[in-house]
Amino acid sequence: MQLLLPSPVQTVTFKNRTFYLKRDDLIHPDFSGNKARKFYYFLTRDFLQIKRIVSYGSVQSNAMYSLSVLAKMRGWHFDYYISHLPPLLRDDPHGNFKRAIENGMRLHIDKPPEAYDDKTLFITEGGAQSEAEEGIRLLAEEIVAWQKAQRLERLGVFLPSGTGTTALYLQKSFCLLGSSNRVYTVACVKESSYLKEQFALLEADEAVYPQVLEPLKRYRFGKPYRELFALWQKLKIQTGVEFDLLYDPIGWQTLLTHIDKIDTPILYLHQGGIHGNESMIRRYEKIRN
Ligand SMILES: *Cc1c(COP(=O)(O)O)cnc(C)c1O
Repeated sequence: MQLLLPSPVQTVTFKNRTFYLKRDDLIHPDFSGNKARKFYYFLTRDFLQIKRIVSYGSVQSNAMYSLSVLAKMRGWHFDYYISHLPPLLRDDPHGNFKRAIENGMRLHIDKPPEAYDDKTLFITEGGAQSEAEEGIRLLAEEIVAWQKAQRLERLGVFLPSGTGTTALYLQKSFCLLGSSNRVYTVACVKESSYLKEQFALLEADEAVYPQVLEPLKRYRFGKPYRELFALWQKLKIQTGVEFDLLYDPIGWQTLLTHIDKIDTPILYLHQGGIHGNESMIRRYEKIRN
């Protein structure tokens, strides 16, 4: 698989501000964004015994789709566990779900088993595990090399979080590389306190935790909100870039709310997820009618 690494960085203007935009969405048409970073380890290492991947989570998740691509690339089976299958999706498969099934994903409506043999690679929901650090370290190295060429001493790097794995390992990697870059994030799936608990599961040293910014208001993850759709559309028109509909509108809104507290140039990390937009757009079409 040919990956576009280092991923490109461009400049965009939005709301009269200039941002650097790191295009991890362009890494590969089918394997991109932070899932490409998080699963990089599983793509590039030898796993001589492994015959299948087992994972679980939501039925439209970007992680699920990326794992289906990974399994296909490596000739492994992929068993994915969900708690239930919405009838609308069963009758009319679309989005990440459809693509994952096409890649050979075997779906189980059940709890994931508790024990596995040594031929199985078990991946936690959203890839929130220590193996993610390797690919995210590479991301940090790319950013540091790029900013050196641009003579940018210090950056604020912003990215919206689900499990917080990407934000945490990115800040940790900057620290290990001796960079003074600061990582800012926002909790999109649950409360900020959940995000901090997640950081603690992966890393004991609080000195390397990202800074968590508060969202303007509490949004229910995955629920359509007109104002978020409007922001997503405006971003697309003004920057020419399609962002993800689940995380990025909350990300940009939060960043713009707190922007005056950040006194360095800002780099926004595009974490991919565009294939997931199809199912979100369907939900938005429903609330418009
Ligand atoms: C998975 C995902 C996230 C969240 O990543 P975490 O490492 O779990 O915080 C954010 N944006 C997009 C587009 C994603 O696919």
